Amino acid sequence: MNRVYAIQDQENSRESVKKMYASVMREFDDLRGVVCSNDKVLIKPNLVAPFEKATTDLTLLECLIKTILERKAVPIVAESSGFEFSTADTFRILGVDKLCSAYGVKLLNLDDAEYQYVESGNPLVPEYKMPKILSVVDKVIDVPCLKGHSLTKVTFGIKNLFGLLHRETRRKIHATNLELGIAYLRKLVHVDFVMVDGLWNLINAVYSEAFYQGIVVAGNNVDATDRVCCSVFGVDYAEIPHIRLCARSVRYRYVPLSEIKEIDNHIEERRNHFIKQNCIYKSFYSFDRLFSAILKRSVIPSLHYWLGLRPYIDQKKCDDCGRCYAVCPTHAIRNKRILHKKCMNVRCFKCREVCPNHAVIEKGLHK
Ligand code: SF4
Ligand code: SF4
Repeated sequence: MNRVYAIQDQENSRESVKKMYASVMREFDDLRGVVCSNDKVLIKPNLVAPFEKATTDLTLLECLIKTILERKAVPIVAESSGFEFSTADTFRILGVDKLCSAYGVKLLNLDDAEYQYVESGNPLVPEYKMPKILSVVDKVIDVPCLKGHSLTKVTFGIKNLFGLLHRETRRKIHATNLELGIAYLRKLVHVDFVMVDGLWNLINAVYSEAFYQGIVVAGNNVDATDRVCCSVFGVDYAEIPHIRLCARSVRYRYVPLSEIKEIDNHIEERRNHFIKQNCIYKSFYSFDRLFSAILKRSVIPSLHYWLGLRPYIDQKKCDDCGRCYAVCPTHAIRNKRILHKKCMNVRCFKCREVCPNHAVIEKGLHK
């Protein structure tokens, strides 16, 4: 029987996250029915960019690692960040590398992994480049975030699998039909358990204001769990093509473990925003496919940087206090200027957070 549980505790603390995790584990018998002794378990978090609130909470990730180790199984954390971000920097800035090494857990940067071509069934992109590790592991546990997305409207468990694909395949899917591409990917990956981190509510996957909502949704079926996430997020699943395509006929039992306050993200009111964003991104990726063949590198990070959001120091407001120099994880700031080459694949905006004079501003067309 497919089961989905959801719990909410709006007290923003590590202890409350641990308590919610413990409640979920009680309902799933500490994963006894999911993870067996000696299983190799691939954990796929959402580490899209170096932003804590937009990525899988490390307390949840740590709790899950401990449970898998208690089951005497072998956890492997695997991820490739968003196309325009550096995965290695994202791991380092978020502290995922330290967490994994503290537990002796393998952290796999999928950008450096081995891949193989797999027939996808998708007529627009017939072969997907998938990491070989998927054919070696016994179980897959999906740990996405519950948040909005500027192209697919929402991103939960099914969409989170997109980060498993080689960047080349992601680029092809982006340039054709993203929703269809995700639905075909779902058929290629068997997810054994999914735990959705809905601690923060963001209307976009990375750059948007975040509100603490303290929700965790978990299930033994990713399609059913995504349907429940839609209700929690205040959106009709039939309006989200990749979820509708995957989860139309799934049967499940949903039990809220506490009263869940539904989030209303006014998605319907932003219909034109999604149409515009999809057109922009499709042209970005089509342009990239053309020019990368000539330049021998993807131009997506540069396009995101120069047309998307980037930090800029207002010289008139800056008093050269040096706080942003100290906090920048890529040492990209010197003499009141940002070295764009160093900032480009990170764009963490820590410089803006620490500036006492509000001298660091965002530039770009997209927000
Ligand atoms: S310049 Fe600012 S946004 Fe860029 S990496 Fe440094 S701290 Fe992050
Ligand atoms: S923190 Fe602000 S005021 Fe200080 S050096 Fe950076 S931009 Fe200038």
